Amino acid sequence: MCGVFGIWGHPEAANIAYLGLHALQHRGQESAGIASTDGERLFAHRAMGLVQASFSERELGELKGLGAIGHVRYSTAGSSHVKNAQPLAVDYAHGSIALAHNGNLTNHESLRAELEAKGSIFQSGTDTETIVHLFARSAESTVEDRLIDALRKVEGAYSLVLLADKKLVAVRDPMGIRPLCLGKLARGDREIAVIASEPTSFDLIGADLVRDVAPGEVLVIDDSGARSLFPWEEKPRASCLFEHVYFARPDAVIDGVSIYEVRKELGRRLAAEHPLPEGDSPAVVVPVPDSGVAAAIGYSEASGHSFQMGLIRSHYIGRTFIEPQDTIRHFGVRLKLHPNRAVLRGRRVIVVDDSIVRGTTSRKIVKMVRDAGAAEVHVRVSSPPTRWPCFYGIATPTRQELIASTQAEDAIKTYLDADSVGYLSLGALAASVRTAGKASGARDSAPESGSLRGFCHACWSGEYPVPIPRTVLHRLRLIHG
Ligand code: AMP
Repeated sequence: MCGVFGIWGHPEAANIAYLGLHALQHRGQESAGIASTDGERLFAHRAMGLVQASFSERELGELKGLGAIGHVRYSTAGSSHVKNAQPLAVDYAHGSIALAHNGNLTNHESLRAELEAKGSIFQSGTDTETIVHLFARSAESTVEDRLIDALRKVEGAYSLVLLADKKLVAVRDPMGIRPLCLGKLARGDREIAVIASEPTSFDLIGADLVRDVAPGEVLVIDDSGARSLFPWEEKPRASCLFEHVYFARPDAVIDGVSIYEVRKELGRRLAAEHPLPEGDSPAVVVPVPDSGVAAAIGYSEASGHSFQMGLIRSHYIGRTFIEPQDTIRHFGVRLKLHPNRAVLRGRRVIVVDDSIVRGTTSRKIVKMVRDAGAAEVHVRVSSPPTRWPCFYGIATPTRQELIASTQAEDAIKTYLDADSVGYLSLGALAASVRTAGKASGARDSAPESGSLRGFCHACWSGEYPVPIPRTVLHRLRLIHG
């Protein structure tokens, strides 16, 4: 997953982008980068690591100009290496551009093979570079038309920002799979346009959220203002539900819906679908921090069992799952979470987390909670069993590694060594987003409460809104024959 940021028309564009990226850090911790333009030249700096560690004062100072874009990354296509860090910055026949992309293209392998056959030389392993080559080869004349031309050939998920010497272009794919928002930053009597994956960036820089970039919208921002193009045929919307469950920051509002309210509602519905079995000792609801906190509040509210911080999180460790190396990730759970014995000892503990992927984290947490003296450990998950890999920009392991794709719930309970396990149903998940949407007054929160229409839920259902090429499905052993 990644985060993107863009700004046009500010004398400290790169500094603002740097701040904006800080507020998107949860979307990617492997690398960070900013590209800027002074209207003639393009400047770029990319490095491995967190935003804070990636830029010295001098490096930021060299990113001159009134326009900037930024990117934080954790790898979903291409390895964890600085050559794959973004923004990609290139010179082509008519100038220079930089591109930062969130999402994954489903047909990039065949496009890359075609482009290479025609002589394109790729510098990175990312799918994003395909867009750059298509852009460079386009016969259109304006930057936005070249980009639109390039994007006509790609399929999959893309929320992206492109920086050229005289403009910034922001695009959200026609299905709106990944989020993208438009904000405005007041500067004297002017309003400066800012773009970000989540409005969390806007709060930090003092900007206001204007609206979400619409699915299929191309926003062209330059010195004369912003204008919208809708060059593609309308497609059924497929916003990623996992953004609501886990990925976005809880204080974000995406497509008009408060992520925090969604997650509390997930917890309430989880309590209704999977209450704690009868028992004698007192029960506590314990979130896996931070990802399970809001859902645990909802579970506690609905069940009446008290919410307690039975696991304490170290603030000096990032999102462990994001670590690409297995050894680091496995060790990470103990580094990140510590049992609070005062809460856990002798209690029936309801552990609430957002998802079980491989099951390794939950297994360690159950053991940790038992070792701390819990009488019983009940695992509650605020999403359905994750059974299918994501091809649209969320890093998921192979299907074989997803515990729920090979194991029934009973076997998962045994593997986790839990007294019970309960997953939220997909219907309740979609209904939670709609309920929270209605509460926040979102325009398109349809009344049909359990309907999955408008959402991508492929990781749970295996129903992929953008078809996955057969060659890829074969290679991943998702189809046979
Ligand atoms: P696992 O040990 O593989 O079951 O990891 C599950 C944990 O990873 C949960 O606590 C989630 O909060 C977190 N998680 C789930 N999916 C992702 C993802 N795609 N990227 C980062 N973290 C994730």
